[in-house]
Amino acid sequence: MRPRRIPPIDCPHCGRPALVRSSEKATALVREVRYLCDNDACACQFLAQIEIVSMVQPSLRPAPGIILPGPRRPANDDEPAPANDDVPDKSRAHRMT
Ligand SMILES: [Zn+2]
Repeated sequence: MRPRRIPPIDCPHCGRPALVRSSEKATALVREVRYLCDNDACACQFLAQIEIVSMVQPSLRPAPGIILPGPRRPANDDEPAPANDDVPDKSRAHRMT
């Protein structure tokens, strides 16, 4: 059995960790989470949403109506990132004087 954990989040007012009070499915792609600030002097409560925004690995059993962008693939004209940031050292260049 996989552990069911909702990611922690800090209170937007005092910055202390907020505790999950409850959560419920809002849509197939969104879950709403009610948080309570751990700081008794703040006592803030707020709602957060966890939304599925894209696929990392497409489902083998896709549900009808669930359309999400897949992983970004580089376009043919994308410049590959350099393997390192070496710049030719001009001091080592062979001088012909
Ligand atoms: Zn707070």
